[in-house]
Amino acid sequence: MTASPTDQTQQRLVDRFGRVATDLRVSLTDRCNLRCTYCMPPEGLDWLPGDEVLTDDEVVRLIGVATGRLGVQEVRFTGGEPLVRRGLVSIVARTREVAPDAELSITTNALGLAKMAGSLAEAGLDRVNVSLDSIRPDTFAEITRRDRLADVVAGLEAAADAGLGPIKINAVLLRGVNDDQAAELLGWSLERGYELRFIEQMPLDAQHGWSRDTMVTADETLAALSTAFELTPAEEPRGSAPAELFYVDGGPAKVGIIASVTRPFCGDCDRVRLTADGQVRDCLFARSESDLRTPLRAGASDGDLAARWVTAMAGKRAGHGIDDLGFLQPDRPMSAIGG
Ligand code: SAM
Ligand code: SF4
Repeated sequence: MTASPTDQTQQRLVDRFGRVATDLRVSLTDRCNLRCTYCMPPEGLDWLPGDEVLTDDEVVRLIGVATGRLGVQEVRFTGGEPLVRRGLVSIVARTREVAPDAELSITTNALGLAKMAGSLAEAGLDRVNVSLDSIRPDTFAEITRRDRLADVVAGLEAAADAGLGPIKINAVLLRGVNDDQAAELLGWSLERGYELRFIEQMPLDAQHGWSRDTMVTADETLAALSTAFELTPAEEPRGSAPAELFYVDGGPAKVGIIASVTRPFCGDCDRVRLTADGQVRDCLFARSESDLRTPLRAGASDGDLAARWVTAMAGKRAGHGIDDLGFLQPDRPMSAIGG
């Protein structure tokens, strides 16, 4: 049952520390056509059964609840790989209808984006974040286990042509694999007008192979970039953005560092996640989830779903706790949560 605008009561997704979630990450599938070594094993994973995955109608309905009743202002589609979700363009178009003022973006590996960028822009998508860890074909293939660099480059170009900017690139550095390529990747991105952000590798891989001793830290990344560029901290307030921004060679070009592990930004977090099977997660590292799919399929009203979502967020923990002695990696890997 969809509520009429007059009986909608505006609530907020606020936790006990006063943080308000306004940025919703929606995973559209846990499947992917790459096999990044820091994300999943070569054989892939046991994908969610089809009947457990939210239908297009269900996804759009829950997004409508979040934007219409719960103060969510940004919706980011992710996965797994969101471009492999059949119906993506229609989901974006329908989201634009139910949330005309929300910022809509997608995080993607860009395989197939060359073909889809135009329709996604027409459907109402505002911008894309593309994941790219190396511009060398051999290193790209080593990390993703697929020889598809050319498709990513074509996808980026198509996204720019379609007006899906500012285009951000996310890169993860791996020791001994691509940590010697940070400056090269930045130079390449700047030449094309893409904003590059380096993300510290997190303990969210399906194989549980992450180790603090081998991850490349933000400080190491900054040191590597500083051999080729002059970096100065950007003056603009960071707010809840995870990236610390630096001007490159005096600006206006910038580079971002997302130091999730060594300089956590949990105190300013404004994110909430919806998995492809309809579970609300208040944090990437949450140890529990709140099921919205079961009540949704049992006929819950929008008001009831909103109330459940508010309750789900209240217990969000202060921080991800990676440094705590008792830290346990979440049961779901990043690809099944929605990065
Ligand atoms: N498949 C899409 C992509 O790669 O952009 C969307 C999902 S992917 C899980 C989202 C982001 O998470 C990517 O930028 C990827 O590099 C990043 N990621 C995956 N595993 C990670 C990990 N263990 N630590 C840090 N970032 C990770
Ligand atoms: Fe796929 Fe993205 Fe994971 Fe790479 S990081 S395997 S592209 S979900």
